[in-house]
Amino acid sequence: MITYGRLVSGGIITNYDCSSQCRHCVYASSPHWPKDYMTAGMADEIFRALKVSGCHAVHIGGGEPLLRPQHLFPILKAAEEHGIQIDYIETNASWYKNAERTGALLRELRQHHVHTLLISIDPFHNEFIPFYKVKALIEICKQHDMSVFPWRMEFWGDLEAMGDAKTHRLEEYDRFFGYDYQLQLLKRYHLNLRGRALQTYKGYLKTFPVREILSDTSPCNKLSGVHHFHIDLYGNFVPESCAGLAVHYKDLTQGITPEKYPVFHALYTAGIKGLYDFASHRYGFEPKDNYTGKCELCYDIRRYMAMDIKLNLADVQPLGHYKYM
Ligand code: SF4
Repeated sequence: MITYGRLVSGGIITNYDCSSQCRHCVYASSPHWPKDYMTAGMADEIFRALKVSGCHAVHIGGGEPLLRPQHLFPILKAAEEHGIQIDYIETNASWYKNAERTGALLRELRQHHVHTLLISIDPFHNEFIPFYKVKALIEICKQHDMSVFPWRMEFWGDLEAMGDAKTHRLEEYDRFFGYDYQLQLLKRYHLNLRGRALQTYKGYLKTFPVREILSDTSPCNKLSGVHHFHIDLYGNFVPESCAGLAVHYKDLTQGITPEKYPVFHALYTAGIKGLYDFASHRYGFEPKDNYTGKCELCYDIRRYMAMDIKLNLADVQPLGHYKYM
C-alpha cells in the first residue's frame, strides 16, 4: 500500500473550464468542460487535509479561475480560515473588460489576501486572448498594488510584434518569424510534454519501437513528487505533471491500494511496463508499433480504458481530461 507523508507545495485546480483551448495545456482545459467550480465544502476539507500534511501555501489554477470570481471567493475564504497562504492565482486575462470592473475585482482579491497574479504571456494563449487585455491587466495590477508574476516575459516582444489588437494563430507566428517557430516554442517554453502538449507536439518528436519502451521497468518517480502536485475541484490529487491520473486526496494518507487504484499502483511500482501488462492482460489493450516515449504510451493506454472501453477507474480521472483533449 502506497502512502504519502509530507506534501510540500502544490496548486488547487478550482475549475477545468477555460476561455482558451491552448495547444500546450497539460490539463486539457477548454470551454467544452462543464462549468463546475470547487465547492466551499470541498475547499474546506482539502485545506484542512493539506495543513495536516504540512502544506501551508498553494497557488490557484485552472482552467481559468477568474472566469466566475463569485465561485472563487468562498475557496479563498476557506484557505484563509485554515491558515493556507495563496502564493498566486494563475490567469490568462481573457475576462478583462475595463479598468473599473477589473479594479473592483483586484480590490476584492486583496481583501481575500491574494497579493500576486501569475499572468500568462505566450503565443499559445495569444491564439485566444488579444495581447492588449494582458497589458491592460498588468497596468491595473500596478495601480492596485497587486504583484504580477509574468509567465513568460521572454515572449513579450514576439506578442508585441504580432500586434496587440487581436488574437493570432500559431501558424501566423510561423509565417512572421520563420517556419519553425512552433518547433522553437517547444524548447523556449520548456514544455511539459504531457496532456494536450504531447498531442500537439508528438508529430515533431522521434519515435521508438514499443518493445524498446517496454524494456524500461523502473517505477515512475514523477508520481511520488510532493513539490508541484495539484488537487482538483473533484478532490483528485493530480501527481506532478501527470494530468489524467488521480488519487482521491483522502487516500494519500489512508493508503493507495492496488485494488482501488490499479493504474496508479502499476505505474508507481513497475512503471510503464507494469501499466502495459495490466492493461493488455486485463483489458485487451493493443499498442501501436511506435511511440514517442513512455508518456505517450501511458496516455494511449489510459485513453483506451477511459474512452474506447468506457471504464470508470478511480485513478484514470477526470474523464473530461480524455473527453475534451
Ligand atoms: S509514464 Fe505516465 S505516469 Fe509516468 S511520467 Fe509519463 S505520464 Fe506520468
